[in-house]
Amino acid sequence: MSRDLVVALSGGVGGAKLALGLSKVVAPENLLIVANTGDDFEHLGLSISPDIDTLTYALSGLDNQTLGWGRRDESWNFMEVLATLGGPAWFRLGDRDLALHVARTMRLKAGESLSAITADMTRRLGIAARVLPMSEDPVRTRVDSDEGLLDFQDYFVGRQCRPVVKALRFDGAAAARAHPDFLAALASPRLRAIVICPSNPFISVEPILALPGVREAFAARTAPCVAVSPIIGGKAVKGPTAKMMAELGLPAGAASVARRYGALLDGYVLDAQDAAEAQGLSARCVTAPTLMTSLEDKVALARVALELADALRA
Ligand code: GDP
Repeated sequence: MSRDLVVALSGGVGGAKLALGLSKVVAPENLLIVANTGDDFEHLGLSISPDIDTLTYALSGLDNQTLGWGRRDESWNFMEVLATLGGPAWFRLGDRDLALHVARTMRLKAGESLSAITADMTRRLGIAARVLPMSEDPVRTRVDSDEGLLDFQDYFVGRQCRPVVKALRFDGAAAARAHPDFLAALASPRLRAIVICPSNPFISVEPILALPGVREAFAARTAPCVAVSPIIGGKAVKGPTAKMMAELGLPAGAASVARRYGALLDGYVLDAQDAAEAQGLSARCVTAPTLMTSLEDKVALARVALELADALRA
């Protein structure tokens, strides 16, 4: 049996960039992109899945490159009127983006699963690879901070990550079931590689790892697991990853991410400028340009990650 199946773990912005690269070098039937749903929340009566949506927009070429989030060609009539009527306007939903949340919410209420809705919507938007929510069950990331226990979006968007993080909680994770297709892929004899995308380890990847059975499935893996560093030169490209590291008492560097994943990792791709961070890590390290600006950058980095996995398997 050929080893052709690639399982990628992804959050939003950073993860989606590499997922897009992977989608150009792996046949769609061989790529399973597992999305974090710990950021999901209910707002204005709508079920919002930010990481699934970021992946959907990035993989379909509909992402808003100016804003760095949301959908392109966006208009904001709904938000403007909502603000006029007294809000709440702290979480911005563009008119086109709104349609996706309305459609998802209706279908969830009618009893369809999040994975079936995601599969249908991604297909309608021309995405051939499979984007799979980590679980059908609700998991809600909460931030234990110096301002108390905050719902994730309250911390992330409402307070723009200003509170000091003491710990993260993934409410519901212990009782949630990892999606069976995710666990089946990890155990598949076809597994070529597990790729942990350059996502925030604390809020994008660890909610996935917190699901029952996932760490056990990683421990039993028959193909290598490779991560790409979300930290370049001690800094996050976007978002609070480096700030969180400092607040959690970890050195803000690429090595901290690899140490955090520990025995889950066989290989690690760090930026060329972070070569010194590879010292002392147990995963096999390679350096590459890891800042993904163009599609070519994303494709090249996807190739580096897969080549490392293939070399580890050889
Ligand atoms: P979120 O759910 O939208 O916060 O998205 P992720 O967790 O997937 O992505 C956030 C992480 O992506 C941050 O740690 C960024 O440093 C990282 N990131 C964003 N763009 C890039 C990039 O071009 N290269 C690398 N290596 N990391 C990136």
